[in-house]
Amino acid sequence: MKILIADTFDPSLPGRLKKFGEVTEDTSQVADCDVVLIRSKTKCTKEYIDGAPKLRLIIRGGVGLDNVDREYAKQKGIEVRNTPEASSVAVAELAFALMIAVPNRLIESHNGMAAGKWEKKQIKRTELMGKTLGLIGVGRIGTALANRARAFGMHVIGFDRYVKYSDMVELKSMDDVLGESDYLSLHTPLNSETENMINKETIGRMKDGAVIINTGRGKCVNAEDMVDALKSGKVGAYATDVWPSDPPPPDYPLLKAPNVLMTPHTGASTKENLLRIGDQVVEILENFQAK
Ligand code: NAD
Repeated sequence: MKILIADTFDPSLPGRLKKFGEVTEDTSQVADCDVVLIRSKTKCTKEYIDGAPKLRLIIRGGVGLDNVDREYAKQKGIEVRNTPEASSVAVAELAFALMIAVPNRLIESHNGMAAGKWEKKQIKRTELMGKTLGLIGVGRIGTALANRARAFGMHVIGFDRYVKYSDMVELKSMDDVLGESDYLSLHTPLNSETENMINKETIGRMKDGAVIINTGRGKCVNAEDMVDALKSGKVGAYATDVWPSDPPPPDYPLLKAPNVLMTPHTGASTKENLLRIGDQVVEILENFQAK
């Protein structure tokens, strides 16, 4: 079996996979490979799959499968797997970091100090304790964030179209979650229901000055509507790790909007997570080989 590691994984992975066959990181060899390992950079489109006639297995190290044409892969008899359990802690910790940075005004404080200013009087902080965190999507990452938020004394509510029970989150309607949240955090996959789900109309149903955190997918938020809401103060801040593309186009309006806190899609990029993803990849290959 020939395995292509097309995107960035833990440096130990090529060595760990040698027991399964030949391993390459040279993407020009895709046509000869039986298995391809991707994260979010490589797009397994119809054209990509057509360029890999021997392909039998695509492993996406991570959660979202929106960069794989699953329907076409299925037609071609190619199995598609991901590593959904590995990344929850890494992403939940980043979502929490983004959330706690906003009321503590960490970025303004740091930038002020770095510019030689002492803004002790101007920088007013608020606390997370007693505030309501609303989750859209109460799956693995949403639940891991809820656990952390509850430890900080937040009240956690959430809407999930498919989850009907949670012992960590008080489940409510989308309307109630929008209307009651001081902080709203997005944790759904990107699909036809969730694309542009945060837009002028849904933002209009939120509390004035609420903070929105997005470690889900960039396209779940309508960028133009978000910019308007940030400019008017309707949304107090937008903290995001995710973008319509990696990287976003230079003229993407949120890059220059006020009260935006940004990270370059590093939600899954912890050292520990890359090791966990490696463990799951090995397990998937062991099962695949045993078939
Ligand atoms: P998960 O499958 O455990 O949870 C997703 C939840 O969303 C599910 O419970 C599902 O029922 C719910 N959902 C689906 N459609 C919905 C809708 N229309 N309305 C409300 N809820 C809906 O997945 P997870 O591990 O928690 O990951 C969630 C998402 O986070 C992934 O799909 C991916 O887009 C994103 N993610 C981002 C990073 C990053 O680096 N920032 C890393 C991993 C995952």
